[in-house]
Amino acid sequence: MDWKTRLLNPAPQARRDYASLATPVYRGSTVVFSDQDAVTDDWRQAEHGYSYGLYGTPTALELAARLADLEGAEATLIVPGGQAAIALIYLAYCTAGSHALVPHSAYGPNKAMATGMLRGLGIDVEPYDPMIGAGIAALIRDNTALIWCESPGSVTMEIQDVPAIVAAAHDKGVAVALDNTYAAGVLFDAFAHGVDVSMQALTKYVGGHSDLLLGAVSARDRAAFDKLGPIYQQLGLAVSPDDCSLALRGLQTLALRLDTLEKSTLQVATWLANHPAVDTVFHPALATCPGHDHWKRDWSGSASVFSFVFKDRITADQVVDFINALAVFKIGLSWGGVHSLAVVYPDLDRPLQDFGGRIVRLNIGLESVSDLIADLDQAMPSD
Ligand SMILES: *Cc1c(COP(=O)(O)O)cnc(C)c1O
Repeated sequence: MDWKTRLLNPAPQARRDYASLATPVYRGSTVVFSDQDAVTDDWRQAEHGYSYGLYGTPTALELAARLADLEGAEATLIVPGGQAAIALIYLAYCTAGSHALVPHSAYGPNKAMATGMLRGLGIDVEPYDPMIGAGIAALIRDNTALIWCESPGSVTMEIQDVPAIVAAAHDKGVAVALDNTYAAGVLFDAFAHGVDVSMQALTKYVGGHSDLLLGAVSARDRAAFDKLGPIYQQLGLAVSPDDCSLALRGLQTLALRLDTLEKSTLQVATWLANHPAVDTVFHPALATCPGHDHWKRDWSGSASVFSFVFKDRITADQVVDFINALAVFKIGLSWGGVHSLAVVYPDLDRPLQDFGGRIVRLNIGLESVSDLIADLDQAMPSD
């Protein structure tokens, strides 16, 4: 054959028996079939064999299988980010005319999807008090298709009574989805507590270094997986094998990072709780966090993100000055990486509470705790 043809049809030259500890990065869209009869287009590649890169290369499927094993799921789908995971769950469980419930304290873009795209599709998503517990039963309607839990809630950190919500939901045949990002899929055992579908932003703890965006959707059983799969295929939620490779690397140090972050975060939270300018600290392991008793009952640990509220006498402008005066803490959204972050929520949308621009969220990273506390101390408003 001509050299131009040989460029595209090489006989393998290097040996293929390279027993690396790392999962190879498989790039590829097309999958080559052995014969015409073998041609398929099927998202269930783990069982039916590979058909198309859109449903994951072996790198993505390796990540999916390891997460499913870690979370005790039937199976996991890898998607481009946490927000894509949320969209997939809504669209798999709800159709025009469905009613769904989502806590007031849910991740902002989840609520934005509820009042935006989903409303346009005729799906009615009703917000509920995250501390409602078994009282959720009164909100379930004949057309309720899905109940979201997010525990702890975004920014306000409410630890939900997930088992009570699951019991009320299952009593009426309603599925429960959980945003389990804070728990990294491990600090709260979603499936042992009855959840049907659990998702997490791998962007946070599994990635762990603020350098990738990925999400995971884990199914409790075959029925949940079969509901999610076709919608996953239709939405075309392709992921990069390079990002999956980084997430696989992140998994190897997840335990170590979570352990160190838990200790450092508790030290910073405790220091803040004792500071005269601070009114309340919302950290799951502190009694001042709403739902702290649920955390003690259901959780195996706490993570790196928490919030605190300044006393009433501190003005919203002083809080902004505090954020701007931080030097070690960077100002930024997202969390779960190795850097400490701070951000104020001036217009936090919580119907039951108004923090008047005095609620600050911190993410603690791997810097020395004494430097972090010194940084907070120097930035604190003077009386
Ligand atoms: C960050 C986050 C998401 C979204 O994840 P992305 O990967 O950024 O899309 C979803 N839920 C929670 C609780 C988050 O913190």
